[in-house]
Amino acid sequence: MIPLANPKVQVDTQKDELLSEISKVFDKCQFIIGENVKEVEKSYASKCGAAYGIGVNSGTDALVLALAACGVGKDDEVITVPYTFVATTEAILIRGAKPVFADIEPDTFNIDVSQIESKITSKTKAILPVFLYGQTCDMETINAIASKHGLKVIADAAQALGAKRNGKPIGMLADAACISFFPTKNLGACGDAGMIVTNDEKLAETARSLRFHGMVPGTYYYDRIGYNSRLDELQAAVLKVKLPMLDTWNGRRRANAEYYLNELGGTGLILPFAKPENYHIYHQFTLRCRHRDEMKAMLSERGVGSAVYYPFPLHLQSCYGFLGYKKGDMPVAEQVCGEVLSVPVFPELSQEDRATVAGALKECAEILDRQ
Ligand SMILES: *Cc1c(COP(=O)(O)O)cnc(C)c1O
Repeated sequence: MIPLANPKVQVDTQKDELLSEISKVFDKCQFIIGENVKEVEKSYASKCGAAYGIGVNSGTDALVLALAACGVGKDDEVITVPYTFVATTEAILIRGAKPVFADIEPDTFNIDVSQIESKITSKTKAILPVFLYGQTCDMETINAIASKHGLKVIADAAQALGAKRNGKPIGMLADAACISFFPTKNLGACGDAGMIVTNDEKLAETARSLRFHGMVPGTYYYDRIGYNSRLDELQAAVLKVKLPMLDTWNGRRRANAEYYLNELGGTGLILPFAKPENYHIYHQFTLRCRHRDEMKAMLSERGVGSAVYYPFPLHLQSCYGFLGYKKGDMPVAEQVCGEVLSVPVFPELSQEDRATVAGALKECAEILDRQ
């Protein structure tokens, strides 16, 4: 079976180096905010074109703390998409604010920027675009709208570490970008971890205080109510070993995607679309097909793993019923939820594996077309 993701191969290729760095942490026993955290905050921020990196517990916490640092709180509104991982909206609600949804584009699966301005009210504080599957959004338009209306822009870049737009990395595209190092992301820790990257010194300082209970550094004075959300030294050791491989891994994902795009033209499958200004790093290779569930089952019979990201849009989830959305409110998001399928694109796929994936997709598409 070719799995959708395979973090084990990646860990295995660096196992000695990982164990050696982890062992050094045990030698020092500085487990919270040690050398590794400081080092990876610098190196990852720099990789993202940002001056500051703030290591936190998870990608979800990166969003929560970035929102808090931007002053988003009770009864504020944040414009975002209903087609994303639940953490995006969860973070807004944890802050006591309300997610206001704009629909997505059917080709990139990212926010349809033409819908943003009509959603802005006197309560709107921020726009939270999601760089879904590893592709950035139309940030020129989003930033222009934000500056016209005095809003903050926080990018959910959980799936997009290494992505660029017009040559600019994610740290240069928003007031803050939030990264996740969940183990199956393009660069995964060995546990939960996340980071905020920003060029805004004040935002960075606030986020740094927030992750440490809101403390004025080095004192037991508290200017604000905070969180306990720090990147820990063991995960930072892992991240330190992995960063030098990021471009290679993303390059292989892109090569795999290009192979699929070449092989699968003319099959009737709707293939992922990268806008020319975007350097897409294919966290997922997500296509659209009719008879998606049959396709998924048929691929599985042929030894090809796949997954549906995401089967159900957030505005219709039962836990968000109180927001008052109904079926038909976000037609594009609702439609693609019934059609999307992500297939293996991880860096260590062999030529044989990807030929198997492409072959199975072609064969299944033909069979389903005849039905
Ligand atoms: C993974 C992910 C998150 C959350 O990251 P965690 O590190 O798992 O907390 C948030 N948003 C998106 C779009 C994600 O894919």
